[in-house]
Amino acid sequence: MSATISVDHYAGKLHPARRLVQVVTLALLVLIPITGLFRIDTIDGAFVVLGREVWFSDMLIVLGFWIFVASLLVMFYSLVGAVFCGWMCPQNTVSEWANSVTKKLLGRHARIMDMTGEDVVIALRRSGWRNKVVLFLLLLAASMVLALVPLLYFYPPSAIWSLLTFADDGQLHGSEYWIYTVCVVVVFLDVAVIRHLMCRYMCIYRIWQHSFKTRDTLRIQYDAARSGDCSHCNYCVDSCFIDIDPRKTDIYDSCVACGECIVACDTLHARSKKLAGGSLLRFAIGNKENSRPLLRTLGGFMGRAKAALLFTTVGGVMFVSGLYGYQPAALSVDRTQAWQGNDLLAYRVEVANKLFTPMTIHLKVVDLPAGSYQLAASSVHFDRPGRKDVALTLNKAALSQGLHRFRVIADNGQGWSKKFVVVHYAAAPARVRGKDSPPTRR
Ligand code: SF4
Ligand code: SF4
Repeated sequence: MSATISVDHYAGKLHPARRLVQVVTLALLVLIPITGLFRIDTIDGAFVVLGREVWFSDMLIVLGFWIFVASLLVMFYSLVGAVFCGWMCPQNTVSEWANSVTKKLLGRHARIMDMTGEDVVIALRRSGWRNKVVLFLLLLAASMVLALVPLLYFYPPSAIWSLLTFADDGQLHGSEYWIYTVCVVVVFLDVAVIRHLMCRYMCIYRIWQHSFKTRDTLRIQYDAARSGDCSHCNYCVDSCFIDIDPRKTDIYDSCVACGECIVACDTLHARSKKLAGGSLLRFAIGNKENSRPLLRTLGGFMGRAKAALLFTTVGGVMFVSGLYGYQPAALSVDRTQAWQGNDLLAYRVEVANKLFTPMTIHLKVVDLPAGSYQLAASSVHFDRPGRKDVALTLNKAALSQGLHRFRVIADNGQGWSKKFVVVHYAAAPARVRGKDSPPTRR
């Protein structure tokens, strides 16, 4: 026998468990950008991870995170196949909800654009125009809410609130209303028309997950030994939104392991007085030719997943060390284009706050004689992440000819400080006209 768990133990809990996972996934999709766990800051053009802007210099965090997640996902696909589609994918969650309200209001499943050519069955008593209007409004309201989710990944929650309340907000440019409208139209078409067709015929991600399936991947198994208890009702086939026959599943078929066929068959058997036992369908790992107990199957999986585990560890270490070495602010000093005679006298001190909390950065210049420089500001305040420039001008008359090595020091008073070393060449004072022009380049 292949590795299975008695279906009687879980068939009754499958449906509520799947609904719970679907709701938690939707909640996570909203909470991830709102809490700053991950989003993209379009204002500063930076990734935001764990409430902090991640710059190119912090790539260890992003790279480590993706290596960690990608290698975990590869193991996940190999063990349970496309379970994500059946249990977590928001597309299928929303499609199931849309099917359910359509059935309640119009008395039909979503057979719109069904490629099987079957006629749509509508219970006439429910197909009145009032129900159609209610369905339209419900789907539109859901689309308007769902269309906000992608925006949350590109705008801070305060900007989304300003968008909804038509408030003036410097974080918005006006084009966001057009972007939101396009999102609403796309989501509406999806929930009203496309629904599970996306999963069946269009989704590349499902094919990607299937490409990692092995002979030891979770699948649906039909208990042929009990075929005498099969009423051939096709209830299981009707419950499958992927449109496959759960009694004839294969290792490399398009099953997303939602388990609805198991629930359907179990419900039928529970209600029947003639049919013995529970569901004829169950989750299984392996097949008749490859029969192994569950623990041995898992042991074999861990053996095959060594490379993926190595990547998971490397990614985790990179991510944690990236967080450990993270700098919440930044300092750099550049020369400006302002020349005075032979001399470069103006510098631009650039400071940045990378956190979404207010920060004041104090600046000072050391190793230069007093009176030989002027710093436009000794502190810079930020209410949010951003960059600001402070002008640093040297006094030519107060500097002797030669190299001057000095430091610009920044300190935010919260444990972060950084120094930037500048080597400045002070030319000789210009006395003869014509001899003080900048050196020519060859
Ligand atoms: S739901 Fe169960 S009893 Fe009905 S056809 Fe499917 S396997 Fe057979
Ligand atoms: S065969 Fe069963 S588990 Fe697989 S997608 Fe269809 S209903 Fe879901």
